[in-house]
Amino acid sequence: MGRRRSLAVAAACLALSTCAAFGPPRLGATARTATRLHHASPSSPEPEGPPLNPLLSRIKPSKTVEVFSLVKQMEAEGPPVTSLCVGEPDFAPPQCVLDAAAAAMSAGQTRYTAVTGTADLRAAIASDLKSRKGVEYDPVSEIVVGNGAKQCVYQGMLASCGPGDEVVVPAPYWPSYPEMALLVGAEPVILETAVEDGYLINPARLEECLNDHPKARVLMLCNPSNPTGGVHSAELLEEIAAVLRKFPNVVILADEIYERLVYTDSGTCTAFASLPGMFHRTITINGFSKSHAMTGFRLGYLAAPARYARAAAVLQGQITSCASSVSQAAGVAALEEVPESWLEGNARGMKEKRDYVLSELGTMDGVSVAVPPDGAFYVLPDVSSYYDGDDTALCLDLLKEQRLALVPGGSFGAPGTVRISYATSMEELGVAMGKLREFLESKRR
Ligand code: PLP
Repeated sequence: MGRRRSLAVAAACLALSTCAAFGPPRLGATARTATRLHHASPSSPEPEGPPLNPLLSRIKPSKTVEVFSLVKQMEAEGPPVTSLCVGEPDFAPPQCVLDAAAAAMSAGQTRYTAVTGTADLRAAIASDLKSRKGVEYDPVSEIVVGNGAKQCVYQGMLASCGPGDEVVVPAPYWPSYPEMALLVGAEPVILETAVEDGYLINPARLEECLNDHPKARVLMLCNPSNPTGGVHSAELLEEIAAVLRKFPNVVILADEIYERLVYTDSGTCTAFASLPGMFHRTITINGFSKSHAMTGFRLGYLAAPARYARAAAVLQGQITSCASSVSQAAGVAALEEVPESWLEGNARGMKEKRDYVLSELGTMDGVSVAVPPDGAFYVLPDVSSYYDGDDTALCLDLLKEQRLALVPGGSFGAPGTVRISYATSMEELGVAMGKLREFLESKRR
């Protein structure tokens, strides 16, 4: 009975996934449908209840989270699913980070901290940004530690724009950016990038876009990029800054959370705030999830001139108060005790995985990666020669037929592509590439 019921749940889940995980209905509609499925009977229709906040009808759930939930559901009911959909390393944080968290708990560091974070962590962040990135922030007034970089992006956006404003989001984008713009009451403006430019921002196109959108108040700059892995060079960033100097009302939200994972010869990523004339208008976002595999610690930060940092702190003070005290102690260890060699080894390992995935994709018929990604841990191959470019249908069939989970590129503003996260073991990558090859070959026949 348990098995039969769970199979039915899986079928419903897959059916739902066609619309909810991959398709258009937004949260309000999905929530109501789910309630009806659960309670309705022909004789006594369940009352709908008071309405949700209308804002929710504008917001899409996170596709990555939904695909991941579907994977977990399928795994509960059958053989394992090979999942390359979530953006997190598959290994543990360094031992000294875990030890610091345990020591903090034993030492009674279990209370609220200052809203902006412990003095120790803010000092460690300021020192790290100064020594590695060449940007100087006052740890007292210019750094706000939050519960993950995601919260910091949101607070940064809320601090710098609102209803009537526009947020320029280069596509392909991290799906949370346009949704966050909507959440703060602003309108996202999508700036397309070209695959042959490695999906990097074209300064001339940016200038055109800003001229066309005088209400633009924020430019999202994800560098290195999720989902493309593209890294804007120092020269390109300077060209972008040159354009922005003509638009002094635009704040740059520089999400640099992947900056420790760069595979160019220099292995580094220029901090946008370090460019001449950009410090006073840049809100830098960074964190510990990707560099130190600390996703579950929920620890990130925002570094910005005092007026933005103060605004973000006011918002955080009313939303979550502060990040976990234990995670903050772990964050200090991450910055002060983890040897550079660990981080370099991590980046080297990711680069090997990237190279492997690229070499496999390169031999698959009808799959192309125009410019190899230089950072983060994602590849966004074009698979539009399959399924007439319907990446959602492709991903659904891939999941059903091969139990391989990838995220449809449409959810990143890149229809006709799929996003592959290669932050997993070589063994798992080998299995995944085999499944993808077999699946695509079966569609060619
Ligand atoms: N920014 C980008 C571009 C990301 O890809 C992610 C996570 O996937 C985040 C921010 C959020 O990271 P965190 O786990 O610190 O909230």
